[in-house]
Amino acid sequence: MSDQQLFRSAMSRLSAAVNIIATDGPAGRCGMTASSVCSVSDDPPTMLVCVNRNARSNAIFRRNGKLSVNILAKGQNDVSNRFASSKLTIDERFGPESDWFRRTTGAPLLNGALAALDCTVSHIQEVATHSVFFCGVESIVLGEPRQGLVYFDRSYRETMALAAFGGGCA
Ligand SMILES: Cc1cc2nc3c(=O)[nH]c(=O)nc-3n(C[C@H](O)[C@H](O)[C@H](O)COP(=O)(O)OP(=O)(O)OC[C@H]3O[C@@H](n4cnc5c(N)ncnc54)[C@H](O)[C@@H]3O)c2cc1C
Repeated sequence: MSDQQLFRSAMSRLSAAVNIIATDGPAGRCGMTASSVCSVSDDPPTMLVCVNRNARSNAIFRRNGKLSVNILAKGQNDVSNRFASSKLTIDERFGPESDWFRRTTGAPLLNGALAALDCTVSHIQEVATHSVFFCGVESIVLGEPRQGLVYFDRSYRETMALAAFGGGCA
């Protein structure tokens, strides 16, 4: 097994939430599926998203400077597959306009997501094959407390249910 295959096998054991990263603006509307997404800081609320430099979305996220992170729920495998398919047009990926709403930045937010975070790109770091987008969170919409969708061992799995609406704090 090559070093790259070994690394990929190790990463297949790293459970990761599945997200749709979406944008709209002067460079146009686009969106893609991403699991390389995480929280950086809660003060100010900051996230990062790793996007392949070959992905067409990369330049559009960069030019619009705004994007949404939509955390998928159990049963949204089809949404993930649509936004990961390079065979579909952008309109086919997004489906009906009624599936989306807008808040602060103008980026599309997904109805039915576990949580949708509306962000402004603060800076971008190039690392090997990927661009790391650091994003300031402008507004947050919490969806219904359902089970989440994760990617583990190269397959979709579902998480346990959220303990309580709003994050499960006692
Ligand atoms: C569960 C899951 C998690 C994922 N997580 C991530 C992630 O964290 N980060 C990430 O970057 N991707 C991730 N992907 C992959 C990503 O969703 C897909 O690559 C998606 O198609 C990107 O959309 P796009 O419109 O930006 O790129 P597309 O235009 O669909 O391009 C996708 C790939 O196709 C190739 N391609 C594009 N245009 C051409 C062309 N004209 N000719 C030849 N080849 C071309 C490129 O290699 C490119 O990387 C994930 C996919 C899944 C299913």
